[in-house]
Amino acid sequence: MVVGDLAQEVDVLVIGAGPGGYVAAIRAAQLGKNVTIVDKGALGGVCLNRGCIPSKAMISAAERYTHIKEASDVGIEVSGDVKVNMPKLVEWKNGVVKKLTGGVKSLLKGNKVEIVSGEAYFSGPNSVRVSNDESAQTYKFNDVIIATGSRPAELKVLPFDGKRILSSTDALNLQEVPERLVVVGGGYIGLELGTAYAKLGAEVTILEGTKSLLPGTDPSLTKMVTRKLKKLGVTVVTEAMVQGGEVNGDEVTVRASVKGEEKTYTGDYCLVSVGRTPNTDELGLDIAGVELDERGFIKIDNQCRTNVDHIYAIGDCAGGALLAHKASYEAKVAAEVISGQNSVIDYQAMPFVIFSDPEIAYTGLTESEAKEEGYDPVVSRFAFQANGRALSMNAADGFVQVVADKETKQLLGVQIVGPEASTLIAEAVFAIEMGANAEDLALTIHAHPTLPETLMEAAEGVFGNAIHMVNKR
Ligand SMILES: Cc1cc2nc3c(=O)[nH]c(=O)nc-3n(C[C@H](O)[C@H](O)[C@H](O)COP(=O)(O)OP(=O)(O)OC[C@H]3O[C@@H](n4cnc5c(N)ncnc54)[C@H](O)[C@@H]3O)c2cc1C
Repeated sequence: MVVGDLAQEVDVLVIGAGPGGYVAAIRAAQLGKNVTIVDKGALGGVCLNRGCIPSKAMISAAERYTHIKEASDVGIEVSGDVKVNMPKLVEWKNGVVKKLTGGVKSLLKGNKVEIVSGEAYFSGPNSVRVSNDESAQTYKFNDVIIATGSRPAELKVLPFDGKRILSSTDALNLQEVPERLVVVGGGYIGLELGTAYAKLGAEVTILEGTKSLLPGTDPSLTKMVTRKLKKLGVTVVTEAMVQGGEVNGDEVTVRASVKGEEKTYTGDYCLVSVGRTPNTDELGLDIAGVELDERGFIKIDNQCRTNVDHIYAIGDCAGGALLAHKASYEAKVAAEVISGQNSVIDYQAMPFVIFSDPEIAYTGLTESEAKEEGYDPVVSRFAFQANGRALSMNAADGFVQVVADKETKQLLGVQIVGPEASTLIAEAVFAIEMGANAEDLALTIHAHPTLPETLMEAAEGVFGNAIHMVNKR
């Protein structure tokens, strides 16, 4: 008998060990299930290995460099060369990644989750074949959670070559700061990495196909970011449809039609960040009978169940917002449903964060979305320029905006552009989650001087009684 012919039986099989998969495995194990998790790559998935964590490490290093260069603004004179050592930066970033992926491994082991390395392929609705270079093994399961995530979408006219035409993964591992970097795609990934490289000294051009950067994000939030990009020397070209490009030696030239006019942009590297493709095409989902939508994402209900009762899908491969915390949130729902609980997805207070400069974060409804949903919204905006802490940090660009229902003052949404927006949004998410109204937020004592005071003041503004701004009457 060939090793692996005897199928192993598990309660729950999780395919993919990203922030969706590993969280699902741990929660299912906590709830008493016998769980096996399989991944063909490194534990932690995209987020830990080539997404959230490495990109934030790079952004923080780039910010530190900028702060040193701009230190004289606050009276700190730096003499001598301040240089970027890119190989060291990448090595440090890799160290951060290693620490976290090691942590995931310990957590899985600590929860008695069996870890299997290999590529999974459905051999039927209740079985998966996992193969790696050395062996193959069939697993039979009662329930399976698909968390295979996504990969960078390729532009047919400008395919990745990993040397000059880069995916986000390649761009996180460059051994030098490009002199000129062309970024194709002005979504959050292109913007975050483009900004980091601009701060590290590259001359960056961002080509975006639509009319503005960060399509889908409220323009009032992006305006401030666009202004800052200009200050950093980044060229933003909108309505630029990329037609193709060529690599010549150490250079890459990208051809684009900009508002109908043919233009070329040359850089020593080009980062293509035009979206993500779900990893649902090489998994044998047809054999399991799992339905996909027209873009290849797995269709799920509000309990993360696919059209096949005992097959669940979570995270990027199930579409919606392609964000790590959304994957982990769905992971808990799926694991709980499998374990007999009646959990359901509720995205009302989902945080969206963009680590731009300044940062953008929002949750709930914007003013126009609130109107569309039949509310009569009242909007109150408080500027960081009036916040002592922001000024003392020399980072006072931006505002906090609260959207509340006029009659009940129920909090409907919060939008922030400014310092630490990524952290500040947590209070708004919690408030909306708890069904708070603007008065609850306004009556909460906020420490002084801190950035969250802006949330309190914006909430007071809903009633026309903010202290540190002149209220609209
Ligand atoms: C540059 C970048 C920056 C990002 N920054 C942020 C951020 O700041 N905040 C945020 O919330 N999100 C961010 N994201 C998005 C975030 O990384 C994803 O939303 C998240 O990783 C999705 O988690 P997941 O578990 O669904 O899948 P993934 O993390 O994609 O993991 C899927 C796993 O499945 C495995 N797999 C796939 N197919 C198979 C198979 N057939 N067999 C076995 N294993 C398989 C893969 O090897 C992978 O490890 C960023 C993404 C990128 C690219």
